Amino acid sequence: MKLALFGADGKVGSTLKPVLERAGHDVKPIEIGDEPDVRGLDAAVDFTTPDAAPENVRAALEQGVSCIVGTTGWDPQPFHEAAARNGLRLFVAPNFSIGAVLMMRFAREAAEYFPRAEIIELHNAAKKDAPSGTARATAELVGGDVVIHSVRLPGLVAHQEVIFGSDGQLLTIRHDTTARESFADGVLLALDKLDSLPPGLTVGLDSIL
Ligand code: NAP
Repeated sequence: MKLALFGADGKVGSTLKPVLERAGHDVKPIEIGDEPDVRGLDAAVDFTTPDAAPENVRAALEQGVSCIVGTTGWDPQPFHEAAARNGLRLFVAPNFSIGAVLMMRFAREAAEYFPRAEIIELHNAAKKDAPSGTARATAELVGGDVVIHSVRLPGLVAHQEVIFGSDGQLLTIRHDTTARESFADGVLLALDKLDSLPPGLTVGLDSIL
């Protein structure tokens, strides 16, 4: 496919670009200050900032181009109508790591059989927020009173354990992100499924797994 990549020089973008190219996609990098000209392309991918993503999505949809967005911290809901009206797709996922999304799905399933669970999420010391968005989303899926423990240390990337306990047994579901390439498989999957999605907004990798 012919793709625009908003935020191509960023930490995720610069990891993603070679992976997309190796998969056979033709990538047009668009950085801050570049004209958001995506006319004629098959899709636009955005890993930028919460301020930039809505503007990039608006520009892409106005030019008739569907979007895949990994940028977090913005509300894509207002773009549903415009995308649906023009037969375009807007796919937004707060977590593009297939393993992390499966970890959450398995945790939801296990929660039906265990009375108690706690979460330990471990991230690099540079991560400012705690608990992580993934840990909070997992706790919501598990339901009940789930305590989250946050660890911030150099040497860690992004890791999470969901520990379920009942009398006489423990079940631990663990996911480890060891490099930013973990997000690329989810983006490739979303590109693969993009045309089969209903026009308008779809949220979450879980919906296409
Ligand atoms: P980053 O390193 O700061 O990269 C963002 C890039 O976007 C920078 O190169 C920035 O340029 C550029 N940019 C800013 N405004 C732009 C614009 N208007 N048009 C085009 N490019 C623009 O951040 P990151 O770590 O790659 O993360 C990017 C986003 O993805 C964040 O919101 C993060 O939370 C999210 N994220 C999501 C997932 C997921 O799985 N969904 C995974 C990791 C990260 P300058 O540096 O020049 O400002």
